[in-house]
Amino acid sequence: MNIHEYQAKELLAKFGVGIPAGIAALTVEEAVAAARQLPGPLYVVKAQIHAGGRGKGKFKELPAEAKGGVRLAKSIEEVEAFAREMLGNTLVTIQTGEAGKQVNRLYVTDGVDIAKEYYLSMVVDRATGRVAMIVSTEGGMDIEEVAHSTPEKITTIVIDPAEGFMPHHGRAVAYGLKLEGELNKQAQTLAGQLYAAFMALDCAMLEINPLVETKDGNLLVLDTKMSFDSNALYRHPDVMALRDETEEDPAEIEASKYDLAYIKLDGDIGCMVNGAGLAMATMDIIKLNGMFPANFLDVGGGATTEKVTAAFKIILSDPAVKGILVNIFGGIMKCDVIAEGIIAAAKEVNLSVPLVVRLEGTNVQQGKDLLNTSGLPIVSANDLGDAAAKIVAEVKKAA
Ligand code: ADP
Ligand code: MG
Repeated sequence: MNIHEYQAKELLAKFGVGIPAGIAALTVEEAVAAARQLPGPLYVVKAQIHAGGRGKGKFKELPAEAKGGVRLAKSIEEVEAFAREMLGNTLVTIQTGEAGKQVNRLYVTDGVDIAKEYYLSMVVDRATGRVAMIVSTEGGMDIEEVAHSTPEKITTIVIDPAEGFMPHHGRAVAYGLKLEGELNKQAQTLAGQLYAAFMALDCAMLEINPLVETKDGNLLVLDTKMSFDSNALYRHPDVMALRDETEEDPAEIEASKYDLAYIKLDGDIGCMVNGAGLAMATMDIIKLNGMFPANFLDVGGGATTEKVTAAFKIILSDPAVKGILVNIFGGIMKCDVIAEGIIAAAKEVNLSVPLVVRLEGTNVQQGKDLLNTSGLPIVSANDLGDAAAKIVAEVKKAA
């Protein structure tokens, strides 16, 4: 789960992390009121969307020369004008895709006199099973480009969970950022605070870009992105309350209610599969047959009729879907039970596109017999290759 910049900053502030003063706003009036509470004379008006690259982004509704979603205002009047331009409009950045994201919230924050921008992020490194802190002297810009062209400017510090954060980790972070004197000490303290926050909140990722050195010699977090391990969210009702569903795909929200792992993709074949590995293989074999999957969908081991029906509805709510491929292995569940679920669901949702079903496992023959005698236009397949070839042929035939 992702949260907004202002929410992440509020969480980090509780761990002592230095952030510029700022207030979130939902309307132009709130933005003006927020600016009045800040010392000024420089303010920054920042679009709050779950995507980065806002500064260099473009608003669909504004002329091409208009600035992006992070604007420096020199007066309250400018704050008002920028808020008016941003709220309700669609910001397109390299991370939003072409459709962009509508800006419904702003963050009005203190303008900072920046001496230098740095990069600092934390991730769970799957290779080592540890939290890694990644730092670079090249902040504010595209870190992927830095990693590609000047990898020597990036330092990774891995922290052993049994040992926890030690003073040497802090020194390594400060050294990687090439900081000296007072700033070096601040970086060591900051690294410890960030590690504490990351662990306490069960973060999956924390990125600070830029971390800045101010002209008066302080380190401040200017931009931050934070995401959480969804398996640990139950431990953090306060974090869960920060969820902004308007930033998420409605079908993915619906799927999460039924505990379905659903991810929308760009193709035409809707997939309903049990098990993530089988789902991946199903997507691969659809591609091998010349078409593309419209989604990834893992209904899980114990797929009930209710779950199968919900999954069907979610797949069919996607107007791009031209056919559905169901690929279920009846291991824990029996194929006849699954077939009953599919038939009930297909009747309930009034199936309008071709449906190919491949069942394998316990009671497979009873399952196939049920499908064949259901009276529904369900095409039964024998194996994965057969199923993919059949759904592609059916979709082409229907087109
Ligand atoms: P994004 O990464 O989405 O473009 P950032 O918050 O990183 O958004 O803002 C882009 C740039 O705007 C920063 O690299 C920084 O140079 C500038 N900026 C952001 N916040 C402030 C601020 N409070 N004061 C001064 N400059 C800022
Ligand atoms: Mg940034």
